[in-house]
Amino acid sequence: MALELTFLGTGTSAGVPMIGCGCQVCQSQDPRDRRDRSSVVVRYPRPQKSAGHDTDLPDRVTVMIDASPEVRHQSIRHGVDWLDTLMLTHAHADHVLGLDDLRRFNTVTGGPIEFFAEPEVIQAIRQMFSYIFKDIHHYDNAYVAKLIPLPIGPGQVIDIGQAKWTPIRLMHGRLPILGYRIDWQGRSIAYCTDCSTIPHETLPQMQDLDVLVLDGLRQRHHPTHMTLDRACEFAEQIAAKQTYLTHIAHDHSHEELLERLPDGVEPAYDGQVISLSPVSTV
Ligand SMILES: [Zn+2]
Ligand SMILES: [Zn+2]
Ligand SMILES: [Zn+2]
Repeated sequence: MALELTFLGTGTSAGVPMIGCGCQVCQSQDPRDRRDRSSVVVRYPRPQKSAGHDTDLPDRVTVMIDASPEVRHQSIRHGVDWLDTLMLTHAHADHVLGLDDLRRFNTVTGGPIEFFAEPEVIQAIRQMFSYIFKDIHHYDNAYVAKLIPLPIGPGQVIDIGQAKWTPIRLMHGRLPILGYRIDWQGRSIAYCTDCSTIPHETLPQMQDLDVLVLDGLRQRHHPTHMTLDRACEFAEQIAAKQTYLTHIAHDHSHEELLERLPDGVEPAYDGQVISLSPVSTV
């Protein structure tokens, strides 16, 4: 069995199409030009079940990165029917407003959902979703998500199943946020949404990647996101085997991006699945 990364959304904060926009990309009939808010789910085989418990768990571990406002629709559309763990990159609305909808996963799994985030992000989420974290009696607990925040910082490796998740520092304009490097069975992916630059000290953690997912908003300048040119410069420097751009605005159609991006760099699209087999040790 392989590790699979599924793009649940590849759009910028307003999504594509944008409300009330008549541009060619927003009016496009190409399904790859429909970009929900950015998020991915990563699934890989669950370690051998230990005797006596865990017998009801699915065969795969499911980890989601960010909970977009479209998380319900994205989960249904892309077959996410279980959630073990959530990783958050930062607390902007397009990455966390789906937290409330995770309550359905509480019901499905029968337990709370742990989420990893930086302490400042946890603080912001406690304010945005105060009712979730207040110790009050709810009419029915199924109406309120049960979420357990776990603080992390750059470089603090987390073992989830047989994969190692390493939070890595990115800069989103002046806001420090997290990306994640995932190492599993000799394969590696780095997910770096919402960044305008990758700090020098982060680059050693980006070596030997099979897949790099990188912010590629648009060609025009933006203060907190990468232009296509800048994303391509980082892609060349990091030299993953393949780079996918995400968090894409309505400035470019998928077809146009396929034509203009260099070899080894391509736009991701919603529903795209990247599958990596374990590296053979034979
Ligand atoms: Zn965003
Ligand atoms: Zn548009
Ligand atoms: Zn953001």
